[in-house]
Amino acid sequence: MESFDDLLKLAETAHGHLCAGQILGVRMATLGCRRLGIEEPRGTDRKRLVTYVEIDRCATDAIGVVTGCRLGKRALKFRDWGKMAATFVDLASGRAVRIAALESSKQRARELHPEIENKNKQQMLAYRELPDEELFSEGWVSVHIEPKEFPGYKGDRIACAECGEGISYERIIERDGRILCFACADPEARYYQPLGTEATEYAPTMVTISGPKCECP
Ligand SMILES: [Zn+2]
Ligand SMILES: [Zn+2]
Repeated sequence: MESFDDLLKLAETAHGHLCAGQILGVRMATLGCRRLGIEEPRGTDRKRLVTYVEIDRCATDAIGVVTGCRLGKRALKFRDWGKMAATFVDLASGRAVRIAALESSKQRARELHPEIENKNKQQMLAYRELPDEELFSEGWVSVHIEPKEFPGYKGDRIACAECGEGISYERIIERDGRILCFACADPEARYYQPLGTEATEYAPTMVTISGPKCECP
């Protein structure tokens, strides 16, 4: 694997900026690979790793960069649990390790570098220096991955009986002998509601997005 600094550069490029979350993510992912004995996750060992991430934050991007696990490759699984944690699964051995950032790491950063006032800068330096055991808790876990969740799974594409849209990976619900997509099976639970084709008929909800500020842990 590349050096820590080279990985960090890759993460910075992919993420758009360098932040404490990138450092934590690179540390977490390299620790996971080390525990599993995977030396070249994006090289000779590629396709061995599936990574479950539990938060959509800065560190997640770094984890994707280091492991090579991407959403589009189905090797990055997102569980929206709001936790700075990830599980690294070695498909070759079946072993898996779950690593979580310790809540005490921020406090440790303050103790280590009280002279640095800027929190992000303080954490960026401390997260480079602190040993793994002061940044993370870790443990071996068992992860069952169904065949249809594997990166290379080739399954049938089925059309929804209601909307006609194609559905992969058996994301279907059978009801009264009809095969439905999740959106048609439970319209209330949709993350979107169709507004029809008349674009001017409705005023769009404006979402205010704050600036590029990064509040890394
Ligand atoms: Zn960031
Ligand atoms: Zn449908």
